[in-house]
Amino acid sequence: MIYDAEHLGEEAYALVKELFPICRSLTGRGVRETLARIARQVPIEVHEVPSGTKVFDWEIPAEWNLEEARLIGPDGDVVVSTNATNLHVVGYSQPVDQTLTLAELRQHLHTLPERPDTIPYVTSYYHPRWGFAMSHRRLESLKEGTYRAVIRATLEPGSLTYADCVLPGSSADELLLSTYICHPSLANDNLSGIAVSAIVLRELARRERRYTIRGVFAPETLGAITYLYKNGGHLKEHVRGGLVATCTGDHGGVVHYKRSRQGHAEIDRTVEHVLARTGTPHRLLDFCPVGSDERQYCSPGFDLPIGSLMRTYYFDWPAYHTSDDDLSAVSARSLGEMIVLYLRAFEVMDVNRCWK
Ligand code: ZN
Repeated sequence: MIYDAEHLGEEAYALVKELFPICRSLTGRGVRETLARIARQVPIEVHEVPSGTKVFDWEIPAEWNLEEARLIGPDGDVVVSTNATNLHVVGYSQPVDQTLTLAELRQHLHTLPERPDTIPYVTSYYHPRWGFAMSHRRLESLKEGTYRAVIRATLEPGSLTYADCVLPGSSADELLLSTYICHPSLANDNLSGIAVSAIVLRELARRERRYTIRGVFAPETLGAITYLYKNGGHLKEHVRGGLVATCTGDHGGVVHYKRSRQGHAEIDRTVEHVLARTGTPHRLLDFCPVGSDERQYCSPGFDLPIGSLMRTYYFDWPAYHTSDDDLSAVSARSLGEMIVLYLRAFEVMDVNRCWK
């Protein structure tokens, strides 16, 4: 197949830009709104799992929805507000309306002293607390006095939302493409993975295939655990290979492939073959149980052959989990190149046979 990487990349970048302002989290309206926009590209089915549901030894928490978080200074000035960027609030913050001294407030503020102009991305899903994130320079400029912290949010019984799609092939054997939808306004991690997945699935849906293709859009970690809880038996029986799409849009010139835990599965050999044959500068990483949802899919109870294809390895990327991961951190060109690599990998898996 010939692919128009430039056009596909521009479409992916437009989707990243469209989804960027939405306040996503582990649960809540932002996730649903994101899925509604993905549904314009691929025919996904949305699933809701109620708070309190046990999934293996985890439990679906209360649903979090944010109206606005605002920190008001001693002179009535707005120090930070989520109207500027949703990174200013600690994800899953408890609702609060409280006056505090600067010393008391500091316990609730998060900064990156080594990167004074950058806002960190902070969450607290399972430890109840509230807080704000801001640049270290902003923190240093705060004067003594009384501050008012207002977080207008709800943390109530609701549900965890995820979506999947199944594109039937001529065989019941499946290839899996999974990505996560819980990060707020961060472009590379992981709107790039969402956009690449949506467009790859859309392109795969348009052609004849041997393999059935399964796409998963779920919150990271708990979403994948929930997906395995509900579908793990089926996946174990049918999935022959798959990829977790993360950090697929940054400007890094070296593509990284993290192998499945099996290490030498067909998907691992396929991706290595595609990277070598396309002349893509790349680095291969062995599986380790930290990272993204390949950890869940490859966990010993399931041991699915799932690797992860990305551009720069997230832990080596300076903008990782900070406000520097904005729309300028990704490009249509990078996204387009990655879309083609994903399509090539699925294409090679599809035609790879052992003839007798
Ligand atoms: Zn992340």
